[in-house]
Amino acid sequence: MPFHLVDHPLVRHKIGLLRKDDIDIPTFRELTTEISAMLMYEAVREMPTQPREVDGWASKVAVQHIHNKNVTVVPILRAGLGMMNGALYLMPWAKISVMGIYRDEKTLNPVPYFEKSVPNISNYTAIILDPMLATGGTLVYAVDLLKQKGCRKIKGIFLVASPEGVERMEKAHPEFDIYAAALDERLNSNGYILPGLGDAGDKLFGTL
Ligand code: URA
Repeated sequence: MPFHLVDHPLVRHKIGLLRKDDIDIPTFRELTTEISAMLMYEAVREMPTQPREVDGWASKVAVQHIHNKNVTVVPILRAGLGMMNGALYLMPWAKISVMGIYRDEKTLNPVPYFEKSVPNISNYTAIILDPMLATGGTLVYAVDLLKQKGCRKIKGIFLVASPEGVERMEKAHPEFDIYAAALDERLNSNGYILPGLGDAGDKLFGTL
């Protein structure tokens, strides 16, 4: 199963800063943006480029460019929105497809409440944004939905993943590429990741 731990020293350092309980809202947002940009950088590593010639300052120069720019980021509301600026920083042309899915607090099952995708999403590489890959229920649901819409290339970037969530995705969508800044120890009985970050959505939105 394609689980990619993005183990760059800057990512390791910044995810450590993010874990501090007394972190303030601007710092949590800023670090989330920075880590998301680095995760995105890894997630699109395989994107093909094609040769092209441009007028350089002294002569024609052979360069490479990305020919197929059909990429849509898919933030899972609401916490995924916190990763959007970082994810789009390196690819400002990417389209945005939004999925509103929340976890029922008792059953922990995903409940959809909003969805708006780019037209012809089947022609796009979809990159899901969600800070926490916890039980995996929401992610399995989101990927199911994207596949129903005809998407064939689907990946996801996450600040922190749990072993339980990764295993669940492995079974449901074995080809799905997960890019995470950390793989933590386990889930608690409420489906929160330990040691994790706490409620990433609340920290991003200031609703703690
Ligand atoms: N969502 C969060 O915000 N944090 C977790 O640990 C799990 C799900």
